Amino acid sequence: MNASNSPAESLRSIALVAHDQKKDALVKWAHSHRSVLAEFDLYGTGTTGGRIAREVGLDITCLKSGPLGGDAQIGAMIAEGRLDALLFFIDPLSALPHDVDVKSLLRIATLYDTVLAINEATASRIFAQLHNET
Ligand code: PGA
Repeated sequence: MNASNSPAESLRSIALVAHDQKKDALVKWAHSHRSVLAEFDLYGTGTTGGRIAREVGLDITCLKSGPLGGDAQIGAMIAEGRLDALLFFIDPLSALPHDVDVKSLLRIATLYDTVLAINEATASRIFAQLHNET
């Protein structure tokens, strides 16, 4: 987020990702933020994005599943300047086969100063601010 721009002005594209144990929470969260989410270009890793499309009814571009390269695709989008924000509901209690990809994505998002929420509370705060500005 650029300090000189409001989030509503600077955010156009948002990626949604949730680890398996957090997918229900993200789907529920997306339901309750549906109208604001619908204003953005949405991207998601395969399984997460599929659930958001089916269960929330949002238009979302589904990338590969996270363990099959979806996290890497989102990292590439950030590096190429094609993604403004990442809402990534992380499971801190499970070992993941693609842990290196998760670390890489978080590193790239940090490097490019991307708006980043790794839990529900932060995602809700970001969206509360967006709602106030739209
Ligand atoms: P998925 O990927 O949405 O395809 O499950 C998420 C992840 O584990 O990175």
